[in-house]
Amino acid sequence: MTREQARARIEELRRLIEYHNYRYYVLDQPEISDEEYDALFRELVQLEEQFPDLRTPDSPTQRVGAPPLSAFPEHQHREVMLSLDNAFSEEELLAFDQRLKRFLDLPQDTPIEYTCELKIDGLAVSLTYEEGVLTVGATRGDGVRGEDVTPNIRTVRQIPLRLHAGESLFDVLPRLVEVRGEVYLSYNEFERINHERAQAGEPLFANPRNAAAGSLRQLDSRITARRRLRFWAYGIGYCEGAEFATQWEVLQQLKAWGFPVNPHTRVVKNIHEAIAFCREWDARRAELDYATDGVVIKVNRIDWQRQLGATARAPRWAIAYKYPAERATTIIREVRWQVGRTGVLTPVAIMEPVPVGGVTVSRATLHNIDYIREKDIRIGDRVVIQRAGEVIPEVVRVVKEARDGDEVPIEPPAQCPVCGARVERPADEAALRCINLACPAQLVERIRHFTSRHAMNIEGVGDKWVQRLFELGYIKDPADLYTLHQHREALVQLERSGEKLVSNILNAIEKSKNNSLDRLIFALGIRHVGEHAARLLAEHFGSLDALMNATEEQIMQIHGIGPETAREVVEFFARPENRAVVEKLRRAGVRMEAERKERAAAPFAGMTFVFTGELKSYTREQAEALVRELGGRATSSVSKLTTYVVAGPGAGSKLQKARELGIPVLDEQQFLEMLRQAGVAVDSR
Ligand code: NAD
Repeated sequence: MTREQARARIEELRRLIEYHNYRYYVLDQPEISDEEYDALFRELVQLEEQFPDLRTPDSPTQRVGAPPLSAFPEHQHREVMLSLDNAFSEEELLAFDQRLKRFLDLPQDTPIEYTCELKIDGLAVSLTYEEGVLTVGATRGDGVRGEDVTPNIRTVRQIPLRLHAGESLFDVLPRLVEVRGEVYLSYNEFERINHERAQAGEPLFANPRNAAAGSLRQLDSRITARRRLRFWAYGIGYCEGAEFATQWEVLQQLKAWGFPVNPHTRVVKNIHEAIAFCREWDARRAELDYATDGVVIKVNRIDWQRQLGATARAPRWAIAYKYPAERATTIIREVRWQVGRTGVLTPVAIMEPVPVGGVTVSRATLHNIDYIREKDIRIGDRVVIQRAGEVIPEVVRVVKEARDGDEVPIEPPAQCPVCGARVERPADEAALRCINLACPAQLVERIRHFTSRHAMNIEGVGDKWVQRLFELGYIKDPADLYTLHQHREALVQLERSGEKLVSNILNAIEKSKNNSLDRLIFALGIRHVGEHAARLLAEHFGSLDALMNATEEQIMQIHGIGPETAREVVEFFARPENRAVVEKLRRAGVRMEAERKERAAAPFAGMTFVFTGELKSYTREQAEALVRELGGRATSSVSKLTTYVVAGPGAGSKLQKARELGIPVLDEQQFLEMLRQAGVAVDSR
C-alpha cells in the first residue's frame, strides 16, 4: 500500500469508527456487530503502526469512548477511566506477557502473577465516595469527563449508598475514593425490557450492554428504577487514605466495603494459567445469567502496574481477551412464515442444524421482507448466523461466494399460511399482516399472550395447553378460559392429564380473576400497549370501562403515551369482537377496576420496621409515625418478624441482632428512597 492509499484508508476508517462510536456510546444503538467494529479498529491500529507519522492525537485509537451527552451534568473523573487493549487469540496473550517482561526488565522465564476477571458486557461507571458516602455516580464518557448520572445510580440496589465501615482493611474509611465497576443486566431482564419495547413498538436494544447503557442514561430515573440493573465492582480509581499492594487486595477491600465482586475471579501464577482460565470460561459462560464477552487479565502487583503505566487509551498492565463470536455458517432449507398475535407474519429460516456457542440451532429469524431483500437472502443459501446473548438467532450475512445458481429467492406469501386469508402490507410498515382477525394462528397467539407470565400469569396454561384446548374447541378467545371448568370431566380424561393437573389449571385461572387492572389491559394484547403503557393506562383511567370509553385525545394526555398507541387503543375497543370478549370477561367475574385506594394508602402494609441509630431527616418518632401512616408497623426490638432494620450512625445491638438473624438493613438513603417510592415527598441527600 502506498502512503497516499494508506492516508485515504486511514481517513475513511476514522470516519467510520467515529460514526459507529457515536451510535454505540451516545445513542446506544449500534448498527454493526462488535466483531465488525473490532475489525475496523484493528485495521486502523495496524495502518497507524505501519505509518506512524499519519497517527494524530485525534485518532480514535488515541481516545476512549465518546464525549458525554449534554443532557446530563458533566463529571470530571479524578483519575482517568481508560479502555482496554484487546487480544483475540492465545498467541496475543503470550505476546502481551512477553512485552510486559521486556518492559519490566524481567527475564522471560520469570512468571508474572495475574488476576483473571470475567469481562462483563455492561458499561463502566465510577462511583465517588466522600467520607464513605456515595456522592457521585458517573459514566466513563471520554475517560476524562463522563455523565453525572447519580440519581440513576442510586436506583441500583447492589450499589451501597454508604461504604460498610468496621470491616475495612484500614482503620478508617478513605476520605475520598473512586470505585470502578460495571453496571449490567441479566439476560432475563434484558429480554423483559426488549419484550416490553417490542410490545410498545419501540426499537429493540441490540444486546444487554446497550440495554444497560440506555437504562442508566435515562433522564427519568423512575424508568431506570424499573430496570433491574446490577453491579460488579472491579477496581479503584483515585483514592485518598488507602494503599494497596495487589489487585486481589483491592477486590477483597471492595467486598468488605459492601460491593458485589464477581465470585469467579481468580489469581493465577502465570500467563499459561490465565489462558486456561480463558478457555474454561469460553466453554462455561453459558452457565451465567449475564453476558460476558471475554476475560480481563490484570497484572496483580500494583507496583508493577505503576511501572508499566498506560497509553492514551488503555493501561499497559491489563488486556481484554475476547471470546470468539458466537457465529456459525449453515444452509437455509426452507422459510416458514409464522403468524403472530396481531397477524404479523415473521419469516423464519429453517436451517441445517449447527452448533453456535454451545447450543444447536436450526431456526433463525429473518425479521421481515425488507431485511430479506436488503441482504438478498435466498433459500439454499449458505449464511452466517449469530446468537447475540440468549436471544433468537438471526441470519446476519449471506456467503455469496458459495452460490451455485440453484438458490431460490424468498417471495412474501400472498395468503396467510394458516387461514388462507389475504395478506396485506400497511403503507408505513415493514411487516406483512394477515387481515383475518379470526385467523386461528392469531387467536391462539392472543390466548397465549393472555395467559403469559407478564400478562395474566396463569400458571400451567402454557403454549402447549393453549394449542391443545384451542384445537379441541374448548377455547376460542381468552374469555373462554373462565368457562373451562364446565368441561372439567372431559379435561381430566385427556391424555397426559389428570385430576391434579386440571385442578391446578382451574385454580390458576380462578385466581387470575383478581389480577390488577394493568395486567388485564396488557393481556388484551392491544398493539403498542406493552406492560409499561398498560400500567400508565390503568393508573390514569382506574377502570377498564373508563378506558374503553376514552377518546384518542384523552389517552394522549397521559405523559408517556404517544398518538399511535392512543389510536390503537381506541381502534381496539371500537371492534365489536373485542368488546364481546371484554363483556364475557366481565360476566366471568374478572376484576376490571384498579385497586387504587388500597395501594396508595398502605404501601407498607405487612412490613415491620425497627429504627436504630440516628437519622438526619427525621426523629425516630417521626419516622415511626410515617411507617404507621403508610400501613406498616414500627417496633422497638428486632425479631424474626422484623422486615427491615433502618440503621443510622451510632447503631448498636439492634444492628448486630439484625445481622445475626439475616434481616435486611437499610441506611437512611435507602429508607428515604422507599418513602419516595411510596409517594412521600422527601428531600433528597
Ligand atoms: P472494551 O469493552 O473492549 O474494554 C473496556 C471495558 O471493559 C471497561 O470500560 C469496562 O466497562 C469493561 N470491563 C468489564 N469487566 C471488566 C473488568 N473486570 N475490569 C476492567 N474492565 C472491565 O472497551 P470499550 O472501550 O468499553 O469498548 C470498546 C468495544 O466496544 C469495542 O471493542 C467494540 O467491541 C465495542 N464497540 C462496538 C461498536 C459497534 O458499533 N458495534 C462501537 C464502539 C465500540
